Amino acid sequence: MNVSESLRQLQPYVPGRSVDEVQRQYGVQEVIKLASNENALGANPKVVAEIQKNASQVFRYPDSSYQKNKKIISHFFDVLPENVCFGNGSDELIDILIRIFCEPNQDAILIPAQSFVAYKVRGHVNRVKVTEIPLLKNLQIDISAMVKALDRQHRIVFLPNPNNPSGRYLSKKEIEPLLQAVSKQENTLLVVDEAYTEFIRADDYPDMIKTFKEMKNLVVLRTLSKAYGLAGLRSGFMLADVEICNWVERVRLPFNSNILSSCVLEVALSDQDFIKKSQGMVWQGLDYFERELKKMGLEFCPSQGNFIFFDTRKDSSLVFDDLLKKGIILRPVKNYGFMTQIRMTVGLPEENKRVIECLRQVL
Ligand code: PMP
Repeated sequence: MNVSESLRQLQPYVPGRSVDEVQRQYGVQEVIKLASNENALGANPKVVAEIQKNASQVFRYPDSSYQKNKKIISHFFDVLPENVCFGNGSDELIDILIRIFCEPNQDAILIPAQSFVAYKVRGHVNRVKVTEIPLLKNLQIDISAMVKALDRQHRIVFLPNPNNPSGRYLSKKEIEPLLQAVSKQENTLLVVDEAYTEFIRADDYPDMIKTFKEMKNLVVLRTLSKAYGLAGLRSGFMLADVEICNWVERVRLPFNSNILSSCVLEVALSDQDFIKKSQGMVWQGLDYFERELKKMGLEFCPSQGNFIFFDTRKDSSLVFDDLLKKGIILRPVKNYGFMTQIRMTVGLPEENKRVIECLRQVL
C-alpha cells in the first residue's frame, strides 16, 4: 500500500500490558497493574451508579453542543462556557490542536524530549516537525533551552506539568520565562497539560486557570482519567480563549465526547471527597515508595504525580520481565531513552507493599 513515508517511520504509542494478557502468558492469577497511571481506587461508585442509570441512553447520540457540561465546567472553574471544549480524553485535544494550528510540512511543535509521548506521535501523524528539548540532568524540563529554541515556526509548545514519566513539576517562577516568551508570540500556543494536577502537593505550583484568562494563547488541558478514576470513559477537556475554543468546535468530530462520559461529569466533579481520597492514597503511597527505594539505595525522581520514576540500575526490560512472572506490571521507559529506569504507578497500600517485596527479590 502507498503510505506516506513520514507515517512509515512513525513509532506508534505502546500501551501498558493488560491484566488478561499477563494472566494468560504467565499463568498467574493475581496481577497488580501499576503501568498506566490509573487510579488504584477504581472508579467512583457514585459515577458507576450514574453510568448504570444512564446505560439505556446509549442508543442516542449525545447532545453535540455539550452546552450543559460546558456550564458545569464553567461554574467549577469560574470561566465562561465558551472557554471550554471536550475531548475523547485529553489525548484527542492534543491532536485537534495540532491539526488546527500547524500547517503540515511547514510548522513545528516544541516539546520536552522526555515527556508524554502523544505530543510527538500526534505531531508526526499530522506531518508536523517536532523539536525536542532534552531534560536537564535532574530530569527537570529545560525552560531556558525551550525559550531559546522558540521561533515563529513553532506554532505550539506542549508543556506537561507535572511531567510524565519523571513526575517533576515546574514552579510558578520556573515556568515564567516561557509564559513571557510565548506571550510575545501571538501565533504560538502554549499548551500546559495538567493531567496530574490534582496530585500536586507543592505550594508554588502555578495557577494556569488564572493565567489563561489574561493570556490569549494559553491552553490548559485537564483529564478525568487520573484522580477521577475514569480513564476508560475517555473524558478530557481544555480551557482556553474563546477564539481558540471556536476553532476546536469547528474541527472536532460532532460527537467526540461519548454519552456516558457526558452524563457523569456533574456527579464526578461534585464528589470532591473522592478526589481527596485519591490524593490521600497517592500521597501515602509516594511517601512509602520513597522510603523503600531509599532503603534499597535506588535513585528516584521526586514526584508530584500518581507515579514514581526510579533507576533499577539494571536493564529495565529484564526487571520488567521478571516482575511480569510474579504478576506485577510496571512500565519500562526505554522509548524515552531511559534504559535502566522504570515508572511505577501508586497502588493500594497492599499492592505497593507486594510490588516492593517483588522488586527486592528481582533486583
Ligand atoms: N497528558 C499526560 C501528561 C498523560 O500522562 C496522559 C495519560 N497518560 C494524558 C495527557 C492523556 O490522558 P487522557 O486519558 O485524558 O487522554
